[in-house]
Amino acid sequence: MRKILFALLWAVLNVNAQTSPEGVDVRKSRLLLLPASTVERSSAQQYGQLMRSAQAKGALNRDSAQLARLRRIAAELIPHVKRFNPAAVQWRWEVNLISSKTVNAFCMPGGKIAFFTGILDALQLTDDEVATIMGHEVGHALLEHGRARMSEQVLKNVGISVAAAALNLGQLSTELLAQGANLAVSLPYARHQESDADLVGLELAARSGHDPRAAISVWQKMSRLAQANASAPGRGGGQPPQFLSTHPSNENRIREIEANLPKVLPLYAKARP
Ligand SMILES: [Zn+2]
Repeated sequence: MRKILFALLWAVLNVNAQTSPEGVDVRKSRLLLLPASTVERSSAQQYGQLMRSAQAKGALNRDSAQLARLRRIAAELIPHVKRFNPAAVQWRWEVNLISSKTVNAFCMPGGKIAFFTGILDALQLTDDEVATIMGHEVGHALLEHGRARMSEQVLKNVGISVAAAALNLGQLSTELLAQGANLAVSLPYARHQESDADLVGLELAARSGHDPRAAISVWQKMSRLAQANASAPGRGGGQPPQFLSTHPSNENRIREIEANLPKVLPLYAKARP
């Protein structure tokens, strides 16, 4: 019995291929433990806390022009999320901008997006580049990578027997869920999740009329910044941009993006004004 439960509960990353006549092919996480509604509620709480603490520091949405730009780009991308996650159409999407030198951006489960001013400033992002980064982050949420990780984490924390007993999850403390939600933005995703998020980003950008080739310049800018920081330890402390610590850049990543461009460039051609 115990063995079966293990097999059942640890099949957290049981994935199946999703193919389509046009656009990219990605794997969708299939989760057995945490219901989407639980994960989204917990993420919304975490996100709300984060935004309130940013506001308390006077660091929330101070640049109204940049905020408007981010919200416009999100509004362009969101109508195209359905193919990757039909439920996402009903999400209560939010986009906020936090004033911080942090070079990072994220989208929590349920469509809670945040950009740090650091990523806009340090990389001097164009709209197309913002669209591919936002599309990538939104991709993690659509493919439920955060939900997968929270499920794994909760399972590790509460132990298998408790998790099994509490499968309706009413007994899980909010603290445990909060820990899981924190992890959803602070740890790197698995490599296959990263490449799938890249692909979703390419397609969302293309379908919304943003040049998906911008994904390549994003990664080029990112590695230039990493090199600059490494050679000027006074400013960056020799630290790589935070985005790179959760999104390792490499030649392979750019090659994979290039290899998938033929699948999305026709969508871009159709969507272009
Ligand atoms: Zn990612």
